[in-house]
Amino acid sequence: MTEPLIYDLGAAGRRGVLLPDCDVPETPLPAELLRDELDFPEVSELQVVRHFTRLSNLNFSIDKGFYPLGSCTMKYNPKLNEDMARLSGFAAHHPLSDSEGSQGALALMYSLQNWLAEISGFKGVSLMPAAGAHGELAGILMIRKYHVDRGDTKRTKILIPNSAHGTNPATVTMAGYTTVELPADENGDVDLEALKAACDDTVAGMMITVPNTLGLFESKILDVIKTVHECGGLMYMDGANMNALLGAVKPGELGFDVMHYNLHKTFSTPHGGGGPGSGPVGVGEKLVPFLPGPIVGIVEEAKGEDDSPLYGWVTPEKTIGRMKAFHGNFGMHVRAYTYIRIHGDQGIKDITRHAVLNANYIRVNLRDTYHVPFDRINAHEFVLEGHFEGIDSVHALDISKRLIDYGFHPPTNYFPLLVPEALMIEPTETEDKATLDEFIDVMKKIAAEAKENPELLTGAPHTAPVSRLDEVRAAKQLVLCCRPIPEWAETTKSS
Ligand SMILES: *Cc1c(COP(=O)(O)O)cnc(C)c1O
Repeated sequence: MTEPLIYDLGAAGRRGVLLPDCDVPETPLPAELLRDELDFPEVSELQVVRHFTRLSNLNFSIDKGFYPLGSCTMKYNPKLNEDMARLSGFAAHHPLSDSEGSQGALALMYSLQNWLAEISGFKGVSLMPAAGAHGELAGILMIRKYHVDRGDTKRTKILIPNSAHGTNPATVTMAGYTTVELPADENGDVDLEALKAACDDTVAGMMITVPNTLGLFESKILDVIKTVHECGGLMYMDGANMNALLGAVKPGELGFDVMHYNLHKTFSTPHGGGGPGSGPVGVGEKLVPFLPGPIVGIVEEAKGEDDSPLYGWVTPEKTIGRMKAFHGNFGMHVRAYTYIRIHGDQGIKDITRHAVLNANYIRVNLRDTYHVPFDRINAHEFVLEGHFEGIDSVHALDISKRLIDYGFHPPTNYFPLLVPEALMIEPTETEDKATLDEFIDVMKKIAAEAKENPELLTGAPHTAPVSRLDEVRAAKQLVLCCRPIPEWAETTKSS
């Protein structure tokens, strides 16, 4: 399928806008600003609208189909969130407004801070970090400052299980620490003996993804926390996947000292297109003074019952400082606030119950067709192996590409690294049984095709506008202009 380029649509004299007659003296543009090599197409407004609408339809999105991309929680984002974020009092609020003129926005942020703290059992929350990985960095910097503040400067290591998300070791390096990797045991949990051997007074803390990237809840989590605390380290929980724990587990009550949330996953704000994210951090008592700030606080209590308190910015006593300048991702806070209010107490619990049920339903229905390496009750996602005995030509990537032909977004591929040919599947709670059944049927059909006609998989996708890309170059050398796709971008075979 070849898409017409907008350059080919142009014809001399077509106009997209009608300008009024000039009623000021004309001034020629400076010659150095005019570039002859820019040959813009001349097109009508309708052509432009159709061109970009057609292009947007080539994209896959959660609004178009099932998107079981493990660890990314591609749940449906209710449109009501968008309406609320676009209310002009929020959307048009000027970043330099003073706090007296920002009481509505501050009240919303204050409530959101408190709800996030309540949901996860923490004492304090800062909304400042702009993404999950940014929250991780804030968390590890807090751990660092906590130790240094006590004069304990020999701690240089952070322990990370090999089932952790890839951003965890990256964060540790960014924060100036060294990562010590811990193996998983045969159940997919952290190997407790290895943990005990690694714990000493040079360990600043441990960073652990819960549920881990196998979609498994660490069954010995209390022992893990106790072991690290006993050697003086703090516990960081990667809470990007709180979709698995809402209303069921409060990490703060388990003993975690700090955690980040991914509002753009768990609390249904759009993500995946490079737009704004939001990765607040929650902390236990020890780290409250170190929170990145300012955060929203009550600066003057309400005087009477019908009165509201006065909100303002407060800076935690030993703050690690700002993680960014403005709260430019405030719209994400409005969306998450809306989402929590719409669901309420019971609804929040149901999110997790349904997310976990959906993921287990798919696993149980596929385990006779695909090898599921850790075949025990999983949380919001699970991992299967994307290959078949005796069929060497078919890999996880081929199964993923074939799913595109059937109208589904592929699962996460080749992650976690500890499972060969990993396919990580996260259905989320917003999908109904009919969609899950359809996906299960297609996965079984693809397994049958792999045996009968493997070329259908290795040559897939057959229906997409472009077939296989050199994925590394496609991500690193984005082609964002309306030029023909360069030859290097398309390869026919999987590598
Ligand atoms: C998505 C994710 C992250 C990173 O979040 P970003 O907002 O993409 O920076 C970290 N950890 C886990 C477990 C995740 O799923």
